Amino acid sequence: MMKNNQVRTMIKDNNVDPAEIAKFNDIAARWWDPEGEFKPLHLLNPTRLSYISDQVAGLFGRKIIDVGCGGGILAESMARAGADVTGIDMASDGLNVARLHALESGLTIDYQQSVAEEFAQQHAGQFTVVTCMEMLEHVPDPASVVQACADLAAPGATLVFSTINKTPKAYLFAILGAEYVLRLVPKGTHDYAKFIRPSVLMRYIEDAGLELVDATGLHFNPLHNSFKLGPGLDVNYFVVARKPL
Ligand code: SAH
Repeated sequence: MMKNNQVRTMIKDNNVDPAEIAKFNDIAARWWDPEGEFKPLHLLNPTRLSYISDQVAGLFGRKIIDVGCGGGILAESMARAGADVTGIDMASDGLNVARLHALESGLTIDYQQSVAEEFAQQHAGQFTVVTCMEMLEHVPDPASVVQACADLAAPGATLVFSTINKTPKAYLFAILGAEYVLRLVPKGTHDYAKFIRPSVLMRYIEDAGLELVDATGLHFNPLHNSFKLGPGLDVNYFVVARKPL
């Protein structure tokens, strides 16, 4: 019989859901199609970029790690703003698309295939900004990823997380609306059971020794096809944390 802590160590060493990675690899070729499966991420990117930039008092010269970077939509926009960006992900096809696209864009970004926990062991305390967007709801043990992000952060660093709340409205918007009605993203993109309440994410953040700085909602307006920040964390939301000095 395995003890609980042995099970937890195994999960930490292998905190990857292969079905999730396969799903992202299958559609990797369309990461940069503004009308493809990742259209919502393209639409929300300018909003989150300016939010992150505000939270860290400007991106220029920052050493940033983007955990679960996918095809590099956010990573490229931060590199364009003058940040020194590293992106890690486990989907190799997505990373290859990200590398090619950065080349075409004339941007230097260090893309690595790695799990956050493993990368954190090799690069502890090296980053002044850590971003982890729309990724926690795709991993078996999100608390472990938050801890890895805390380990990657330098003292005083800012960490920005985004995910989807576990509410009836989130089910309606993020699954029924986005996958079935508007068909913005493929069916099966999200699993309601893996959505994360803000209170739970905030507990993970505090358990990782980080201080809470801010939380805000991200709201989609289907009429304008755009996202904006605002109060109400009931669907998509951001939480910002700081690593104590
Ligand atoms: N952060 C990007 C992509 C979000 S999609 C953005 O917001 O634009 C979620 C990404 O998380 C996918 O690229 C997927 O491959 C990655 N992912 C899922 N599980 C992972 C894990 N355990 N380790 C690293 N990346 C993972």
